[in-house]
Amino acid sequence: MRSDVKSELIRIVGAQRATDRPEDRVAYSYDAYTREHLPDIVLFPLTTREVSAVMKTAFRESVPVTARGSATNLAGEAVPLRGGIVLALSRMDRILSIDAENFRAVVQPGVINHDFQTAVGRLGLLYPPDPSSWMVCSMGGNVCTNAGGPKTVKYGVTRDYLIGLTVVLANGEVLDVRETHFRNGSGYNLTHLFCGSEGTLGIITEITVRLVAKPKATRTLRADFPNLEDSGKAVADIIGSGIVPSALELLDDVVISAVEADAHLGLPPDVEGILLVEVDGEPESLDPQVNRIENVLTANHAVRVIAAKDDAEAQSLWTARRAAFSVMSRLRPTVVMEDATVPVSNLPAMIRKVRESANRHGVRIGVVAHAGDGNLHPLVVFDKRDEEEVERVQRATEEIYREALALGGTLSGEHGIGISKAGLLTLQLDPVAMAVTRAIKQGLDPKGILNPGKFI
Ligand SMILES: Cc1cc2nc3c(=O)[nH]c(=O)nc-3n(C[C@H](O)[C@H](O)[C@H](O)COP(=O)(O)OP(=O)(O)OC[C@H]3O[C@@H](n4cnc5c(N)ncnc54)[C@H](O)[C@@H]3O)c2cc1C
Repeated sequence: MRSDVKSELIRIVGAQRATDRPEDRVAYSYDAYTREHLPDIVLFPLTTREVSAVMKTAFRESVPVTARGSATNLAGEAVPLRGGIVLALSRMDRILSIDAENFRAVVQPGVINHDFQTAVGRLGLLYPPDPSSWMVCSMGGNVCTNAGGPKTVKYGVTRDYLIGLTVVLANGEVLDVRETHFRNGSGYNLTHLFCGSEGTLGIITEITVRLVAKPKATRTLRADFPNLEDSGKAVADIIGSGIVPSALELLDDVVISAVEADAHLGLPPDVEGILLVEVDGEPESLDPQVNRIENVLTANHAVRVIAAKDDAEAQSLWTARRAAFSVMSRLRPTVVMEDATVPVSNLPAMIRKVRESANRHGVRIGVVAHAGDGNLHPLVVFDKRDEEEVERVQRATEEIYREALALGGTLSGEHGIGISKAGLLTLQLDPVAMAVTRAIKQGLDPKGILNPGKFI
């Protein structure tokens, strides 16, 4: 980047909120995937106006800009693949308003999901999208990946709660699509266009979301299965019977033993799969749901079904699920969490295919899943410095995604495409869909400066 352009950018945000020190550039060169690339400069704007001024300069000079929330994405979406500017939104971290009467809130993109959940929870409200990374991931990142989480099976994903955005476009213009009413039938849904766009269409600087009333009670069950495919069948049967749990998560034996070795939560050593099931609602509505779920679990050969005695016990079960990625990352130098998603009735078949691919290519893969909506996260552990092992991992994961598509599924349930699956996107989108995708990108980012090298 030319030094005069750099100086202009530093003047916009101020020297305190800009850095091009080598160690900072390294810190902002990677995310939770395996790739890295150095940016030329990292900027920390505080306002929409500053973001707009940065984009005007970047547009004039054709400098690449990669927006960054907390960099927890698992597909290389926040890696500044062509250098240029990393626009770190982490300091735009204010909750601007919570309107409890009208069930809505406005936040800046750097607000951490869990902080927001806590703030609305104090008012008896719930913001359901709850990625397992909620302690650290940002609301802006959640919008741009259309994040889901354990509660998705009942409540839906980020898109279902998004009602307005302020977006700085590639040329620095500010697009305000904040909805003033829940019902709006005027024109294209521009808000949703930016949801899941992985920073390739604009920089989000304000987010308006819908809230719901917090359920009065929850119950959590753990079911242990000697056979993993039976646990997948139980999931399909629970959903197929019309019960809607508020969470339905799966852990396989590879993950169970890694969690147990690390956290000593008393998980059983002798099973291939654990299901965590949560129901929520009015207190009196829960017993009948729990009874029906227990029947389905037992009919599918669960050897134990244990109800959490209290909130602390339930939380310890959820800790086991949320810890999966970090404990697996201690097994080998590299861990990648994949994101194949299939119709829930095909969950047992998909689980089988993952295991077959792992065995065929000699790759170690654990599985966790937002099982209630068929969203499987094969956790692949390896050493990215070993080229031969990397090749085997690539063969196994490509096979897994091809199987997911063959079973009527998708390449991503929630993590997005980023760098990791850019080469596979044409397997899912036909040439017409690809052409429409490119036309949208070209229309909004004619110089291709927004997060270049990602999914398109
Ligand atoms: C342990 C672990 C568990 C996870 N569990 C889940 C899960 O349950 N569900 C789930 O959906 N994901 C999960 N993830 C993935 C990740 O946390 C989500 O994708 C999350 O939404 C990313 O948020 P972030 O703030 O880290 O965004 P980043 O990683 O910083 O960015 C993600 C993308 O959004 C873009 N972006 C970020 N902010 C903006 C902005 N303001 N304007 C424009 N573009 C922007 C970036 O350029 C990038 O393309 C998990 C990750 C980890 C490490």
